[in-house]
Amino acid sequence: MWYFRRHRLFSVWLIALALAVFSPVQSRSEDRRAPVAVPALRAWEAEAVDAIASLADPAKLATLGVRGSNQRVQKIIYWLLAVKKAGGSPEAVIDAALARFGWKGTPQGDETKLTIMRNLQRALLAGLDNPEGMAEMRRGGAPTIRKGPFLGDEMGIDHVVPRAAVPELDNVLANLELMPTQMNRNKSDKLQPRTQLMARRFVASGLLDPASVPWAAPFASPPPGSKPAPSPAAPAPPVAPPAATAALAGSTRSPVFHKASCSALAAIMEANLVSYASREETIQAGKRPCPKCQP
Ligand SMILES: [Zn+2]
Repeated sequence: MWYFRRHRLFSVWLIALALAVFSPVQSRSEDRRAPVAVPALRAWEAEAVDAIASLADPAKLATLGVRGSNQRVQKIIYWLLAVKKAGGSPEAVIDAALARFGWKGTPQGDETKLTIMRNLQRALLAGLDNPEGMAEMRRGGAPTIRKGPFLGDEMGIDHVVPRAAVPELDNVLANLELMPTQMNRNKSDKLQPRTQLMARRFVASGLLDPASVPWAAPFASPPPGSKPAPSPAAPAPPVAPPAATAALAGSTRSPVFHKASCSALAAIMEANLVSYASREETIQAGKRPCPKCQP
């Protein structure tokens, strides 16, 4: 009898163990097998997707006047901060919003997402996720910075590639980033290395016609599937010289160097950005190639 009871207990234990061990493994392998295009969103996340899809729609942005998109950038960050505060995934919300106008996973969409995620990061670092800051951003206004070296300043919007240099990028979200107003005021109008790199990336992703930025040559060839706006009146885009290696860059604060197209460069502060004429130059500077972009 004792044996019988123990045997039954053992069976129950064995079944429980089997369930515990095998069910997560099975769901993990299912995740790997099925590529989920857009993750399931809760109702309040769906509300954020609706709002951001409307705020970020490139067809609408193209109709806006000078600096017309600036307040949209603030509003988008408001929605993403709200999603993050509620424990949701800002990245999934951006993906779902980009999918509404066919930009999810496209070069244009990736470049746009990168800038939006960078803006969200800056908003969090500057402590903009307080009730006053969020109320201000919800209206499209510039919130007060609550943390870090620009404490007390306003967080405005800046063009990565200046409006004076490329007016076509005035209302392109990938070109609009959060920046403390004071820092923006002190910014030089000269075309910095980062400006050049970002202009090249906008061309490579199809957000910008290469004819608009002859000063940013040489260009990487646009990836397949991207459609730079044709401009019949413009001269032919500059031809990259053979073995163009000027498109290498890195940070003074890191031992790694990258291709100009590497997404890691967007995270490097302009003041720390260095470009290299050749691979030899990078080796002499003691840099090693980035494992991601493999320059
Ligand atoms: Zn890289």
